[in-house]
Amino acid sequence: MLAIETSCDDTCVAILDRKSSIEPPRTMVHLKETLNSASAGGIIPTRAHLHHQQQIGPVTHRALQSAGMPDIDLVCVTRGPGMPGSLSGGLDFAKGLAVAWKKPFVGVHHMLGHLLIPRMLNNGQNPRFPFVSLLVSGGHTVLVLSRSCVDHEILCDTLDIAVGDSLDKCGREIGIRGNMIAKEMESFINQAPLRMEVPMQLPNPLRNKSTRVDVQAFSFAPFITALKDNFTKPLSEYNVEEVRSMAYQIQEAIFHHIVTKLKLVIRLNQEKFEGVSSFVLSGGVGANARLRNLLETELGDNFDNFCYPPLELCSDNAIMIGWAGIELFEKQSLTTDLHATPVRKWPLTQLLEVPYWNSNK
Ligand code: AMP
Ligand code: ZN
Repeated sequence: MLAIETSCDDTCVAILDRKSSIEPPRTMVHLKETLNSASAGGIIPTRAHLHHQQQIGPVTHRALQSAGMPDIDLVCVTRGPGMPGSLSGGLDFAKGLAVAWKKPFVGVHHMLGHLLIPRMLNNGQNPRFPFVSLLVSGGHTVLVLSRSCVDHEILCDTLDIAVGDSLDKCGREIGIRGNMIAKEMESFINQAPLRMEVPMQLPNPLRNKSTRVDVQAFSFAPFITALKDNFTKPLSEYNVEEVRSMAYQIQEAIFHHIVTKLKLVIRLNQEKFEGVSSFVLSGGVGANARLRNLLETELGDNFDNFCYPPLELCSDNAIMIGWAGIELFEKQSLTTDLHATPVRKWPLTQLLEVPYWNSNK
């Protein structure tokens, strides 16, 4: 099985060996070429399109060579949601391969990849449906209830930016640098015990007030503005222990907001959580030990097990697209017609409502 993911700025190609349906597939190769957007200050769609057009051929060629040029039986590719230019870079190439090899292909929803990948390690056995996933990354903060491969309900989403984005921006405000600022911030907090307290006022957004009750959503933009209001002098005048105290409080405030909203959603949707025993935490921010600890202590009574897929499978990759394609193909007998085009906006709840699915059931 060959899988391609080009929905954002990574050109990813994976080859999985599905020897039998009773054991997990083996990853023969996974390659990723990320567009360098550092100087551009963000991802520019036309540059991303060009990047995928340039990379998809050579990366696929390298992947096939390093796997020993295996015979491919199934081609899977991200069909949406995302920027059409980026998506078509992978989708058109995948269609070409499927035609040339005379093999079926499956156009996969990107988020389905994130949701189903923890099941690959246990060959689809665990986590068992129904289960919930909290996806916390640089681009998403979403709680999803999954009842089957094709039945997913979003229980809580962010109204503004993603948690990773907020942590990164707050970290930058207090002088933390690096590729993954929130990750650096966690290490910085843990480098030494907290010795000093800089009292800060940080919000817990979307709390109840007279005009607004029980909002089942996250909001992370207010932390950035609130943080700025806490500075009583220039950053350079705070010593390292004071900055560590700030970092700690930011991380605590943001994670407490997540826990507050999760508890609310669980309380207001008790019937939906019946039979749910697994809580999956994925996405880059899911690597944070403090967040894991908070979730286990605060939500421990609600779930039997907490599942943390390995980080390389949590950030965008083609392996998750391949596995989701395998589940759709094997369990739902679904393939995608060659007329399929990218789907820019594709609600997870309308997985099968886009044109050009072929059902062989
Ligand atoms: P992703 O979008 O899944 O690739 O994840 C990237 C995001 O995860 C960035 O915002 C990172 O700063 C954040 N991240 C990575 N490791 C950690 C960590 N240990 N604690 C908090 N955030 C992290
Ligand atoms: Zn993603």
